[in-house]
Amino acid sequence: MWLEILSEILKLTVFAGLALAGALAILIWKRDLKTKVSYLRFFVQAAAMAALFLLFSYTNELLYVLIVIILLTLFLGRLFCGWLCPLGLYLDLMAVFRKALKIRYWNLPDKLNKLLNKLRYLLLAFFVALPFVLEKIEPWQWSLAKFLMGPFKPVSVLLGPVEPLIIPWESRLKFYGLNLSYPYASVIAFYSGESFALANMFLFIALTLASSFVVRRFWCRFCPTGVSFAVLNRFRGFRWIPLLRLNKVEEKCPKCGICKRVCPVQVLDVYERKGGDIAPSMCMLCLRCVEMCPYEECLKLNMAGRTLFKSRNWLEPSKIE
Ligand code: SF4
Ligand code: SF4
Ligand code: SF4
Repeated sequence: MWLEILSEILKLTVFAGLALAGALAILIWKRDLKTKVSYLRFFVQAAAMAALFLLFSYTNELLYVLIVIILLTLFLGRLFCGWLCPLGLYLDLMAVFRKALKIRYWNLPDKLNKLLNKLRYLLLAFFVALPFVLEKIEPWQWSLAKFLMGPFKPVSVLLGPVEPLIIPWESRLKFYGLNLSYPYASVIAFYSGESFALANMFLFIALTLASSFVVRRFWCRFCPTGVSFAVLNRFRGFRWIPLLRLNKVEEKCPKCGICKRVCPVQVLDVYERKGGDIAPSMCMLCLRCVEMCPYEECLKLNMAGRTLFKSRNWLEPSKIE
């Protein structure tokens, strides 16, 4: 089992590496494109989706997949959410679509955003606790418990956003013979019954995409999966582990507010904090704030103390692409 997983991870690494190398070649070819992190992110997101398809082509225990992603997050922060999650890619594509139509996004009121962020923990606790609660149900209620359990395995539900668009197993969503997937679609189909399965699945897909068309990465604001990956990083004893860190130099920040505006999940900490390392639980390390901060070396992405990417003064005419 472990050998299979390892060989898949190696394949994924090769695949992602090739995609990344291609992207980097384009970056070098096009002068100064290094500031366009968003493009690079789309490349990596697409490569990750293909890699996840490969991973799911083999029967891996989903728990192992979850553990690998939790470990990745433990060492790299929520890089998975910003750069690898398939659902994140669909939601980002909705934002691109909205931009192309020149429609402005809505920001949620900060209080509501914070409330949704807290809701993630409640949802996570609910998903994890439900099977244990159901187990305690009296024997005469077992049929109800079994129905409620159905496909409700916390790990598979939590890994919903991780499933790629095309999956290597049978699904109700089909397109020219390809089995398609969408987060939570199979669970929704199961509880909807035969007659309403497809209608409810499409309604759910439409709602999640439409909401993210209006409010950037709306689902991510309360997604329990994202918080489950990063749950260890919340404990004091684990906070020193992540190697990737956003860093702010307070003296270089004139509080222009751009980082606050461009953040797709409305993280305020980069703007509000006094400087030093910044690691809010909502930050997905998408680097949009670093890319758009117009003050030289004010924001940086550091890895084990080395700067990988930093803001630059793009307001200076000579530096505008
Ligand atoms: S918060 Fe959830 S949906 Fe959003 S990127 Fe992370 S895992 Fe994917
Ligand atoms: S974008 Fe940069 S300069 Fe502007 S408020 Fe944010 S950190 Fe400060
Ligand atoms: S704080 Fe910056 S890196 Fe984090 S999610 Fe917001 S824009 Fe992305």
